[in-house]
Amino acid sequence: MSKQYSELNVGSRILMGPGPSDCDPKVLRAMSVQTVGHLDPDFIAVMNDTVELLRHVFQTENQMTLPMSGTGSAGMETVLVNLIEPGDRVLICVAGLFGQRMVDIAGRCGGVVETVQVPWGRIIDPGEVKKALAKGPYKLVAIVQAETSTGILQPLDEVIALAHENGALVVVDAVTSIGGVELRVDKWGIDTCYGGTQKCLSCPPGLAPVTFNETARKAVTGRRSKVQSWYLDLNMIQNYWGQERFYHHTAPVNMVYALREALRLVYEEGLDKRFARHLRHAGALYAGVTAMGLRLAAQEGHRLPSLTTVAVPDGVDEARARRDLLNGFGLEIGGGLGELKGKVWRVGLMGYSSSHRNVVLFLSALEAVLKAQGVKTPAGAGTAAAEAYLAANPLK
Ligand SMILES: *Cc1c(COP(=O)(O)O)cnc(C)c1O
Repeated sequence: MSKQYSELNVGSRILMGPGPSDCDPKVLRAMSVQTVGHLDPDFIAVMNDTVELLRHVFQTENQMTLPMSGTGSAGMETVLVNLIEPGDRVLICVAGLFGQRMVDIAGRCGGVVETVQVPWGRIIDPGEVKKALAKGPYKLVAIVQAETSTGILQPLDEVIALAHENGALVVVDAVTSIGGVELRVDKWGIDTCYGGTQKCLSCPPGLAPVTFNETARKAVTGRRSKVQSWYLDLNMIQNYWGQERFYHHTAPVNMVYALREALRLVYEEGLDKRFARHLRHAGALYAGVTAMGLRLAAQEGHRLPSLTTVAVPDGVDEARARRDLLNGFGLEIGGGLGELKGKVWRVGLMGYSSSHRNVVLFLSALEAVLKAQGVKTPAGAGTAAAEAYLAANPLK
């Protein structure tokens, strides 16, 4: 008797973790459209729209703007492997897991890596970056705008100015900020930036938008050595996404459909409205969580609207609470990583998942799962505070 397999069967979920977020059904519908060839004229039109819409979401005119095949980490690796040549000195700001990942990748590229470090849950202090830059020169300074492992939104202006004064390129990780939090590549002078699809763009994981300005593009095209990675070499990939349409690897056609639709929805909503929506729902979540007597873990004044870290109260089994949320309510949130393992929950309000419904559902479900562990919070206090916040802060 051979083994039988059922048709694909995945339960219904509400995604409020560190990503992926829930996809707009329109995105999933776009993704199920018939696959065509990667050089089909209809697909080329889809590619062109996607690049235009990517420039909009990055707020850039950069010619070298495209979605890399792979998830956010492929975007990180693309930027680092194309910019770093063996022996290049690079400065990386580490305030959480994703800063650490950049250090790992930059070392694998042959870079000589220096870091600026802070405890997880705090922002990088520009004063420390200034001190480190004095030991330069560096080819680049890399920093994460939205540290998904800690819930911090990193201010970028001073770090960018300092890097440029010292002749370094600026690399920004915008995986959890793109499409959810203000990000202005050209206005802010970011040389290279990468994102991901499954966080605030609410598209399935699988593509990594990247953008390079002219200075960064010249650093890639003028390398002394070949890019170590054949797959991620922008010198070749830009000939497929650019005018030439040279085959490099088969584009993940249906992922590009999905991204085009996700970006179209961002464009339709409007960036400013979208950022305001993320801020508003985060504000309601903060109000609710604090009214329940819980504590927000990230540094005040620098909290990331798309991802909130909530300190786990003493005596609570944090993994059990997450399990209960998933099994009882179909609701996914994340646990802590690294320095914050076991200490925080990570609650995402990203893209399509950033909604009034989700804030209220999470707060009431959290009350129930805490009660199951004998932790009493004032009945209904979380949802009442969130509703009051939303009423006092209407969407304009
Ligand atoms: C999620 C994330 C990544 C990695 O993206 P993957 O899609 O998981 O490969 C990188 N940086 C940040 C800040 C992230 O949140």
